[in-house]
Amino acid sequence: MKLLILPGDGIGPEITDATCRALQALDRRFDIGFDMQTREIGLAAYKSGGETMPESVMQEIAETEATILGPTDTYNYPAEAKGGTRPSKAVRTTFDLYANIRPSRTRPGVPAMAKDMDLVVVRENTEGFYADRNMFLGDAEIMPTEDVAISLRKVTAKGSSRIARQAFEVARARRKKVTVVHKANVLKVGDGLFLRETRKVAEDYPDVELEEVIVDAMAALLIRKPESFDVVLTTNMFGDILSDEAAELSGGLGFGPSINAGDDHAIAQAAHGSAPDIAGQDLANPTALMLSSVMLLEWIARRHGNNGLATAAAHMDRAVDAALAKPETQTKDVGGPLGTEAFGEAVAQAITELDV
Ligand code: NAD
Repeated sequence: MKLLILPGDGIGPEITDATCRALQALDRRFDIGFDMQTREIGLAAYKSGGETMPESVMQEIAETEATILGPTDTYNYPAEAKGGTRPSKAVRTTFDLYANIRPSRTRPGVPAMAKDMDLVVVRENTEGFYADRNMFLGDAEIMPTEDVAISLRKVTAKGSSRIARQAFEVARARRKKVTVVHKANVLKVGDGLFLRETRKVAEDYPDVELEEVIVDAMAALLIRKPESFDVVLTTNMFGDILSDEAAELSGGLGFGPSINAGDDHAIAQAAHGSAPDIAGQDLANPTALMLSSVMLLEWIARRHGNNGLATAAAHMDRAVDAALAKPETQTKDVGGPLGTEAFGEAVAQAITELDV
C-alpha cells in the first residue's frame, strides 16, 4: 500500500520522520506492506526547482490514495505567480477535499486545560473566507485603492449541504449531537444559507440532536464546558480557529490531528503550522501528525472494508496514548523529557510491545 510522504517546512521533516518510524513499526507488527515514498515540497522544493508544490508531486498525489502532508510555512512563500503555490490550497481545491475532520480529546496523563473533552470539529474546507482558493478563477481579495482592501467569502448550498452530511454521519457513530457554529446574526446571507442547508440535512438524521451556537459565544463555551460538545460543524475560517482552540484545551497544538477528505482522496495533515520558532531543535511534538496518520488509515480501512487495517490503526492510536500516559515518555511541550525523535521511538516501541 503506497503512502506518499511530503515533509513540508519548519518542523515538518522532524515530525514526519517520527511518524514514519511509528508507521514502520506498525508495518512490521501487522505486515501491512507500506510502500512509503518521500517527495520534497515547500521551501526545499522551491530552492531546488523554483516551485513550492511541483506539478510532478501533484500528479503523484492524484495517483495515490493516501498522502501524509507535513506543515508548510506558507506565510513566507513567494507569490503564487513566482512559484509559491500553497500546498494546502492546491490539494484541497484540486482533489475537492471538502471535509476537514479535526478531533480533539483529552488523553490519560496529558496535562490539559480541559478536564474532560472528546469532540470533533467538522470544517468546510474549500470555500468560506479563504480568498486564495474560494474562486474558480482569480483571487477573492482585491484592492480598489492602495488604502482599501476587500476580501470576499463564498458559501454555497452544495458546499454547506455536503459538509453538514459529513458532520451528521460522524455524529451518528458517536454521541449523536451536532453543534452548528455560525454568525448568522451578522452574516445573515452567507451563514443564513449554511444554516438553512444544515437544518435540511438534519431532517434526514432524526436520531441526532442539532444545536445552533453563534461563533463568539462558542469561543467562550468551548472553554467553559468543552465536555458538552460532540461534533462541531462550521465554515472554513471558524473551523480553523475553533479547532486550534480545542487542540490547545486538550494539551496543546501538538495534539491536534486532522484529515482532509474528499470522495476519492484523503490527506493526513496536522492542524498546526510549521512552528518556525522551534524548527530543527528536536522540540516538536509529532503526536498530531501521528494521529492524523491513524485517521488516514481508518479512512482507507472504511473505504475498502479492510478490518485488518482498522485494527492496525486502532493499535497505533493506543500506542500513542500509552507513550503519552507515562511521564518518562512524554514530549517536551507538556513537560516531558523526550524530543521529537525519541518520542517517535517510544511510540514505535509501544506499537511493538502492546497486546493487540
Ligand atoms: P504554528 O501552528 O506553526 O505555531 C504556533 C505555536 O504553536 C508556536 O509557538 C509553535 O512552536 C507551537 N507548535 C505548533 N506545532 C507544534 C508542535 N507540533 N509541537 C510543539 N509546539 C508546536 O502557527 P504559526 O507560527 O502562526 O505559523 C507558522 C507557519 O505555519 C505560517 O507560515 C503559517 O502560514 C503556517 N501554517 C501552516 C499550516 C499547515 O500547513 N497546515 C497551518 C497553520 C499555519
